Amino acid sequence: MFNNLTEKLDKALHVLKGHGSITEVNVAETLKEVRRALLDADVNFKTAKEFTNTVKEKALGQNVLTTLQPGQLMVKLVKDELADLMGGETAGINLSGAPTVILMSGLQGSGKTTFSGKLANYLKTKKTKKPLLVACDIYRPAAINQLHVVGDQIGVEVYSEPDNKNPVDIAQKAIAYAKQNGFNVVIVDTAGRLAIDEAMMTEIANVHKAINPQETLFVVDAMTGQDAVNTAKAFNDRLNFDGVVLTKLDGDTRGGAAISIKSVVDKPIKFIGTGEKMDAIDVFHPARMADRILG
Ligand code: GDP
Repeated sequence: MFNNLTEKLDKALHVLKGHGSITEVNVAETLKEVRRALLDADVNFKTAKEFTNTVKEKALGQNVLTTLQPGQLMVKLVKDELADLMGGETAGINLSGAPTVILMSGLQGSGKTTFSGKLANYLKTKKTKKPLLVACDIYRPAAINQLHVVGDQIGVEVYSEPDNKNPVDIAQKAIAYAKQNGFNVVIVDTAGRLAIDEAMMTEIANVHKAINPQETLFVVDAMTGQDAVNTAKAFNDRLNFDGVVLTKLDGDTRGGAAISIKSVVDKPIKFIGTGEKMDAIDVFHPARMADRILG
């Protein structure tokens, strides 16, 4: 993953690695390369510029140039700053509420339904919860079937009302059903469109308002680069979501989305999806991701 960015940053930092003495010009030149690499990986311009400025200030502030191993210190600074940019710490998921209600948002094809299943499976096995999956896509019967297939795979019940065309009503009834039947987590999978449109945004905003979830997660395909950031912003403006799920990180994807999203919407990436199978889910670790990006 992130091969492009890793290689480029590696090249940029190579000058500094193992160099006995470096100059301020070296630092500036290297950071220019780092910035170029970030831009190539679809990190937005402002984020990349702020990033390199911060690293430069810190490098000069800490007198990196006069230390014995300036290269190593620079690499550490870049890594730490990159991790900070992606949230610094691992962000947990809020499991309060009886039941905990989790709303999934995102475009069609982002991996919402797959991730709903993965999260249900994760909560069931790791947190010994009893989750209920809810199918709230009123446009595509295939989407309801897909969630049932996922539910069968992981042994989690799926609530659906194929003839009901009111997603708010379905979600509310599902929560009532959960309360009556001993489910302590309700994961609501919603309809997605190929592009953002007003009707879809209003629909999910209405569901959000009606069920007042503990967690609203925005699911986004990491392969979509800069578009991922724009989509995140549009959803966040309407839903003020709590966290991001970055899917398809197993593919030949670039790192830009992971780096930019947090800084643009100021929300943490909470989980990553690393494959189509139900166990291909991981908690997002910013430092680990930074290490991976920089190689
Ligand atoms: P939705 O329309 O947002 O519900 O998206 P789906 O859950 O149907 O996913 C769309 C496609 O992406 C499906 O073919 C999934 O198998 C695939 N997919 C979802 N998450 C991942 C992932 O983390 N890695 C890979 N490689 N494929 C994924």
